[in-house]
Amino acid sequence: MRDEAAEASENLGAALLGWYDRHARNLPWRVPPRAGRRADPYRVWLSEVMLQQTTVAAVTPYFRRFTALWPTVAHLAAAEDAAVMAEWAGLGYYARARNLLKCARTVATGHGGAFPDTAEGLRALPGIGPYTAAAIAAIAFDRPETVVDGNVERVMARLHAVETPLPAAKPALTAHAAALTPQERPGDHAQAVMDLGATICTPRSPACGICPVMRWCRARAEGIAADLPRKAPRKAKPTRLGLVYVARRADGAVLLETRPEGGLLGGMLGFPGTDWAEEAPVEAPPLTAEWRAAGEVRHTFTHFHLRLSLRLAEVPLGAQAARGAFTGHHAFRPQALPTLMRKVWNLASPEFPPL
Ligand code: SF4
Repeated sequence: MRDEAAEASENLGAALLGWYDRHARNLPWRVPPRAGRRADPYRVWLSEVMLQQTTVAAVTPYFRRFTALWPTVAHLAAAEDAAVMAEWAGLGYYARARNLLKCARTVATGHGGAFPDTAEGLRALPGIGPYTAAAIAAIAFDRPETVVDGNVERVMARLHAVETPLPAAKPALTAHAAALTPQERPGDHAQAVMDLGATICTPRSPACGICPVMRWCRARAEGIAADLPRKAPRKAKPTRLGLVYVARRADGAVLLETRPEGGLLGGMLGFPGTDWAEEAPVEAPPLTAEWRAAGEVRHTFTHFHLRLSLRLAEVPLGAQAARGAFTGHHAFRPQALPTLMRKVWNLASPEFPPL
């Protein structure tokens, strides 16, 4: 006798794939369903790295620029570090950009320019964790890997009315997603669940009335869809304080430094400043000048809020700095700065007299 749960899962999977064939999102890294070819692993990898903690809308212009500048993994592997970091500026989580380059170079030199075609092989590459490896293996190589992001967790919590709060519910939600993963078209299946979560089974107001899997959904039947997934209360984020120094030379050059590798915004361009800590910072200007206070920039990282007090100085042509280097007025591109440093520049620049 056929197992009823397996049959329901097959029917649900078929309904989902049928819906995906008609309503798949048109994304620049994606090959439409039933196009008769697979997605380029380089584009899938690049998009998945960019999409970590970042929305499709924010990623799309970056993805287009990166693939125009570096159309293959070999092109990216041969790029200058500074050029890649500058193009990544504004996308956040800068460790991703450093790992992106490491990974591109490993694939170009150690794998003859071809990405490994299994999740296990992909996981051995720099910056590729279990989620990204599963996503690339499923989407680019049609491996039956279970891909679980926030969208998938939400859909599974609702389909099975899982009331345990996240993150404790993660193993159960992953098991539900695994039970649904088919052997045929696993890549399209993974993208179908993600699309359902992104377009219909949305966080606040799921559109159950037009959902292709509503007849299998327990949360809908119980009237608790919008309440799931439940989440454990978040801890309040601490606030850190710091000082940032913007020096402009008489010819318009600005003092910038490359932030040390490994720390927050590591490898990115920025203005010199103090460390960020919960205690009040001690002045540590990068050069002797008449510094004046000019307001405060606020920014929120994943684990803390930051309040940076701005110090400004106009300095003469021969000024020597203990750290960083002056970048000429025409060479300075504020768009190559990470978002925090762009905020600093936006606050600082109107304070200087016109050149
Ligand atoms: Fe989500 Fe509603 Fe569909 Fe259930 S029926 S999967 S809650 S959109």
